[in-house]
Amino acid sequence: MAAMFQLEQVSHLYNGGDTEQKIALKDVNLAIAPGEFVAVIGHNGSGKSTLAKHLNALLLPTEGQVLVKGMDTKDPEQLWSIRQTAGMVFQNPDNQIVATAVEEDVAFGPENLGVPPADIRRRVEAALKAVDMWEFRQAAPHLLSGGQKQRIAIAGVLAMHPEALILDEPTAMLDPSGRREVMDTVVRLNREEGITVVHITHFMEEAVLASRVIVMNDGQIVLDGVPEEVFSHVTELKALGLDVPQVTELALRLSEHNVKLPPGILTVERMVTELCQLKSKM
Ligand code: ADP
Ligand code: MG
Repeated sequence: MAAMFQLEQVSHLYNGGDTEQKIALKDVNLAIAPGEFVAVIGHNGSGKSTLAKHLNALLLPTEGQVLVKGMDTKDPEQLWSIRQTAGMVFQNPDNQIVATAVEEDVAFGPENLGVPPADIRRRVEAALKAVDMWEFRQAAPHLLSGGQKQRIAIAGVLAMHPEALILDEPTAMLDPSGRREVMDTVVRLNREEGITVVHITHFMEEAVLASRVIVMNDGQIVLDGVPEEVFSHVTELKALGLDVPQVTELALRLSEHNVKLPPGILTVERMVTELCQLKSKM
């Protein structure tokens, strides 16, 4: 089976006229299979957004090759097919909403793809239901909460029938309840619709929801594994300026005090289970 995303020796050099040169990706190799839910973390400037933009040909590699379901992002003839396969959601919901009514906004993508009107209506309905915003179809987007706006932005991408969603810090500007709404939606789309997800975040509590976590530093992938494995590297992550989930940190501190806990505890539930087991042995 072809990978959803395949990066081979990808480097990216920003070489803008007035900006200074910057190598933002260095020899990155990465394969993401269909249906995976990958979280990407890394401090500011580590290359996360640059990586994300390579996944739907918003940026092209300076060196190396990016394949989206086997389609080379450097092939201009594949551009629309690539953009339709891998849809992107950005940080600021206000920059992504173009219409004055929710349903028009969601229709915008499929209209641009030349989808017939009857089909567009069906797609808009399905997309708004998938993000649980159907009842707001006639609302004015600017009156919605941040979390609702981001779900509309996701619906706008879903209406193009993508196989993958690339989300670049979609929760960064949201309050905790907005973040939860968006994450619930993303998790459900992955689990129930089988949509491949690449989710960039600086919230570790979001990263642990993924089936795989990639850590970037200075344009390179420095850790890549299941969340339990990646977050067991507490010292290394801290040296990279990253946090670990609070319970993971608590587990580490407790084990330094001879409370024997296994590494890679990521959730409060698991912590409770482990502590109760210890207690029953006392
Ligand atoms: P992140 O999303 O992890 O914060 P980015 O991919 O945005 O990182 O940026 C990686 C590096 O590339 C940073 O050093 C950043 O300053 C630089 N960079 C990003 N965009 C541009 C650009 N358009 N021109 C020049 N340098 C850029
Ligand atoms: Mg970024």
